[in-house]
Amino acid sequence: MSDHEYARVHVPDVESTPNPTREKKEVDEAVGASRFGFNVYTADPGERLPWGYHRHPDHEELFYVLAGELRVQTADGTEHLNAEDAFFVPENAPVSAEAVGDRPARVVAVGAPKDADDAIIEEECPVCGEVTGRTHDVAGDEYVLYCESCGAEVTRFD
Ligand SMILES: [Zn+2]
Repeated sequence: MSDHEYARVHVPDVESTPNPTREKKEVDEAVGASRFGFNVYTADPGERLPWGYHRHPDHEELFYVLAGELRVQTADGTEHLNAEDAFFVPENAPVSAEAVGDRPARVVAVGAPKDADDAIIEEECPVCGEVTGRTHDVAGDEYVLYCESCGAEVTRFD
């Protein structure tokens, strides 16, 4: 054996991380990757991957649709992605992605650098009406987002 830390996982065996989609497999964590993110999502129609409209100030992302369909909202309009489409999101570019169609979407999302993946979510708060950021809490299997301005709970995923 060399001293190189090769790693192999079978993605269906990776435990799903609580998030707004049916499944999020953090393959990067499972293999110990430190420079880039690599997540595999399974999202039922209507589920978002994984947040609302957000941007990563210092982080690039690439979505690759393996199956199903994805609707991607950007500052330049809406894209409709089908299987085998890949979509690049430059750093600081706002985006939201939602599974659409009549069957689950399976999507690989790659992002780098991994340690700069802070997301800024900016959406209209249903309580105070302002376009605000979000803070979040993880409580067991639930993921809760709060308005940064008024503190109201705005979204709960389980
Ligand atoms: Zn608010």
